[in-house]
Amino acid sequence: MSGPTVGVDARTGAPAESGDDAARASAEVWRAARRLLDGLPGDRGLNIAHEAVDRHVLHGDGGVVALRCVAPDESVSEVTYADLASLTNRFARVLDRLGVAPGEAVFSLLGRGLETYVTALGTLKHTSLYCPLFAAFGPEPVRERLRLGHGRVLVTTYDLYRRRVAPVRDGLPDLRHVLLVDAVPPAGPDGAAAGTAVPGTLSWAALLDDADDSYEIPATDPETPALLHFTSGTTGKPKGAVHVHEAVVAHHATGAHALGLRGGDVFWCTADPGWVTGTSYGIVAPLTHGVTVVCDAGEFNARRWYRILQGHRVTVWYTAPTALRMLMRTGGELAREYDLSALRHVASVGEPLNPEAVVWGQETFDRPVLDNWWQTETGAIMISNEPGSPVRPGSMGVPVPGVVATVLERGDDGRALVVDGAVREVTDPGGTGELALRPGWPSMFRGYLDDEARYRRCFAGGWYLTGDLARRDEDGYYWFVGRADDVIKSAGHLIGPFEVESALMEHPAVAEAGVIGKPDPVAGEVVKAFVTLRRGFEPTEDLRLELVAFGRRRLGSVAPREIAFDQNLPHTRSGKVMRRLLKARELGLPEGDLSTLERV
Ligand code: ATP
Ligand code: MG
Repeated sequence: MSGPTVGVDARTGAPAESGDDAARASAEVWRAARRLLDGLPGDRGLNIAHEAVDRHVLHGDGGVVALRCVAPDESVSEVTYADLASLTNRFARVLDRLGVAPGEAVFSLLGRGLETYVTALGTLKHTSLYCPLFAAFGPEPVRERLRLGHGRVLVTTYDLYRRRVAPVRDGLPDLRHVLLVDAVPPAGPDGAAAGTAVPGTLSWAALLDDADDSYEIPATDPETPALLHFTSGTTGKPKGAVHVHEAVVAHHATGAHALGLRGGDVFWCTADPGWVTGTSYGIVAPLTHGVTVVCDAGEFNARRWYRILQGHRVTVWYTAPTALRMLMRTGGELAREYDLSALRHVASVGEPLNPEAVVWGQETFDRPVLDNWWQTETGAIMISNEPGSPVRPGSMGVPVPGVVATVLERGDDGRALVVDGAVREVTDPGGTGELALRPGWPSMFRGYLDDEARYRRCFAGGWYLTGDLARRDEDGYYWFVGRADDVIKSAGHLIGPFEVESALMEHPAVAEAGVIGKPDPVAGEVVKAFVTLRRGFEPTEDLRLELVAFGRRRLGSVAPREIAFDQNLPHTRSGKVMRRLLKARELGLPEGDLSTLERV
């Protein structure tokens, strides 16, 4: 096997000692969750694609619609579980034919569409490693990730290949095969070779057509590497996190607990397929529940989104704070023009969801808006406002069953304070510290690509350290405070930018805000806010002064000293405000790794 190397040591950070009741209870929860899945027939292990696709066919549900693909022109094509089983079998056969070995990496550089599902799930059947990239990446980020992950196969489009991959292909000796989903072989007797008119590429369609549609998934040890995802790069250079097939236990369980998925649902996850959410909840979790997944290839547009929610009778909608804030900017009246009565709840992830957005969403859709928290590294939702439980606007919710979380006392750098390998939990309700999780949940990452040392630094005292700051209230709800790297230190206070952003968003003129610390000779740092206005508000000096005063009333001494208007806050492609870029620009510093910046 010549796939990428990872420092796989699933037991780093050692699960709690055997006497720990919480750890024992959590292990039992995951064992029970595992029993809800089938495993490969003949007791041959656990494979994500089998649980997501084939098992429904075996259970007689092959005729259920698995995917409803919405094209940019809003025409719809449906794919059943049986169709998906056969297409993914074919793709696994194609990988065999191309000589791809188990464990080797298959990358996708695609928009939202059927091809992404077939590539991901066919690769998982084959027990190769699936790695999605954002289709909007330029040549450098594509090259860098293919190189790091030793990509053997890339599935992409003609246009993306020409613009993003061809210019850097010479520097990618490991990349043996490029499959174009929209190029067909030139006519002629040579068609069987499946080459296209573009030198060095193969036709995806011709290869699939030629392949047999039966395939037996090889025995799959649950610890087999399955997925490689690069983080969003919000705080620095993206890291490649590796997950194994066992992760499907957590995908399935959280699909039920955190998203409330059940048979007959129509589920829409708006995440980009290049981001971990696009895989865990765009593909795996909903399919393991046998629901119908809406997959929209179009761009964000408020009316279009409401039309999809209405037209497809979406029952569970998983989206992101920026999307909700963009809808908020367009106003509640627009939403009320549509019949969204099929919807049971809306869930959100990726960034702090301001209480303002929760309240707006709940009033506008007349449905719960459920924030939940997780990271690329955790592979699945860890903390969530669960359907049916009371929502606390502004809180991320409570740990999902099986997850043991805590808040650890922190040192001067904002991270957990580790003394002789030991850490201390914050015991006061409401005390802020680094959010930490007990290792051992099934979708925990098993390593960062080529960075064992960094992986080890994520663990201390028997905990996985998340890099986020949080507080836990007396009822056990977790509240996001900020990223340890983002915290502003001003005149002896530690300020989480999110708290300031949320307070500003309570002003009717503010649609979104990004807050940074700016060096100051007296205070150490002062708070500066960049503010995007809602429709109908002008960026006047009066409004600026009003916002400064508003901030002071709400926040007192931690209020922003400076406020600037910015209708184009920089976001990552996963929808997060890139505060480090705001800061670099403000200070005239190098902008750093911008591979994941959303270009507008
Ligand atoms: P990088 O690690 O490269 O800096 P990133 O942390 O943004 O990028 P992801 O793994 O995509 O990459 O994002 C996970 C992070 O997103 C979390 O650690 C947290 O900071 C933030 N996040 C996710 N969900 C929430 C939420 N519900 N509330 C607040 N923050 C959230
Ligand atoms: Mg991160």
